[in-house]
Amino acid sequence: MELLNKSLRELGNLIRKKELKPSELLETLLKRIEETEEKLNAYITVTEEEARKRVEVADRELEKLSEDEIPELFGIPISIKDNINVEGVRMTCASKILKDFISPYDATVVKRLRERGAIFIGKNNLDEFAMGSSTETSYFGPTRNPWDLERVPGGSSGGSAAAVSARSALASLGSDTGGSIRQPASFCGVVGLKPTYGRVSRYGLTAFASSLDQIGPITKNVEDAALLMNIISGQDSKDATSAKVPVPDFLSSINGEVKGLKAGLPKEYFVEGIEPEVKEKVFEAVKRLESLGIEFEEISLPHTAYAVETYYIIAPAEASSNLGRFDGVRYTYRAKDYKDLIDMYKKTRAEGFGDEVKRRIMIGTYTLSAGYYDAYYLKAQKVRTLIYRDFEESFKKVDFIVTPVSPTTAFKIGERTDDPIKMYLSDIFTIAVNLAGLPALSMPCGFDSSGLPIGIQFIGKAFDEETILKVGNALEKELKLNTLPPL
Ligand code: GLN
Repeated sequence: MELLNKSLRELGNLIRKKELKPSELLETLLKRIEETEEKLNAYITVTEEEARKRVEVADRELEKLSEDEIPELFGIPISIKDNINVEGVRMTCASKILKDFISPYDATVVKRLRERGAIFIGKNNLDEFAMGSSTETSYFGPTRNPWDLERVPGGSSGGSAAAVSARSALASLGSDTGGSIRQPASFCGVVGLKPTYGRVSRYGLTAFASSLDQIGPITKNVEDAALLMNIISGQDSKDATSAKVPVPDFLSSINGEVKGLKAGLPKEYFVEGIEPEVKEKVFEAVKRLESLGIEFEEISLPHTAYAVETYYIIAPAEASSNLGRFDGVRYTYRAKDYKDLIDMYKKTRAEGFGDEVKRRIMIGTYTLSAGYYDAYYLKAQKVRTLIYRDFEESFKKVDFIVTPVSPTTAFKIGERTDDPIKMYLSDIFTIAVNLAGLPALSMPCGFDSSGLPIGIQFIGKAFDEETILKVGNALEKELKLNTLPPL
């Protein structure tokens, strides 16, 4: 466990100094996966054989390379949410419709990690097509929270967060459309960063809602998130929405000065409905940040009140279009008995998709249909602009914004499955960030009285991940929480 608890940089250094062999690290990790998977179900696929082959080569190469020729992730196994393509590996999106689909290529983020020496250990469980907040809609069964096996790990990147928390993954990449990196990170007591829209290439990420989706790191600590951001960020010719903005060295700036920074506390984010203990711990963290010289002031984000409704128009609309490609012709699953082509489409989709995905496709198709488009979709786009402007106004006064990640800690498995609205509300504090395209960091700031982790969110200006990572790193050092679950 001591080894698996180390940061990516520490592991990289041990390998570089040839004090640790990639094969030793892999075997330790595989053992931990074996120990925990029966309880957690955090992986859909573990690519044990492929990883063993790769480390064997890495072990040999290591002998020949000098210390400074060895890239920072050399021989380090990383896990990937199962809606991101890793060449030659099954990518299911936790759906029956893709259950046997083999990725023909690497996503850009995967390619970039590979170039820095990473190897891939497997694909993490998620809500089907990343639609959910609990990892319960997976065709492969729910993932459990390592802090309490009766509870959900959050979602949709629940497998990634649970694995990193249980140390059955050293680090993982997730995706965040409305909170899917940050909310599970918060439920599992780990760090999750949703980058600015356009910061990280989406090429190779299965599209859910293309104007909202971003890939980002889920890690044990802030430093690891900064390290992964250094590698995965930057423009990519394969994703037209990836931005041509210079990528700073996030790792070297995390230790920078936080004194004198101005932070905003949006009054709309601390209202009723939020568990008192969550509020308490977030305010305690605020006090600690104040003691480091950060100045706080109250701000207002009035259109936040409409964020969930706006999201549940825009995201399903985009999803209904994006998921049109899963028709039984080009991808694996196809219904057995059908009369003609239309019947084949219908049966394939009826059998292949789960209930939540169907619900989204139906809502999206409805809101985009003639006669309703103006009333719903167009209106939602206008509200989206207002939400963005709220942030723009606030960022004239403050450098970053502090909120809870979710109104509650991890809830019980099954508790919200029959009540989609209640499920949707667990993202009430994360969704506006996606609608505005901003970066946000989720990190642990304490525990509730049952010992469940509580998360704090730092929202940054567009393309200013540096500030929120720096503040996160300062808070982490200040709090020194023990984030290892008793598993
Ligand atoms: N929970 C939200 C949803 O169900 C967000 C999901 C996500 O970020 N992928 O859509």
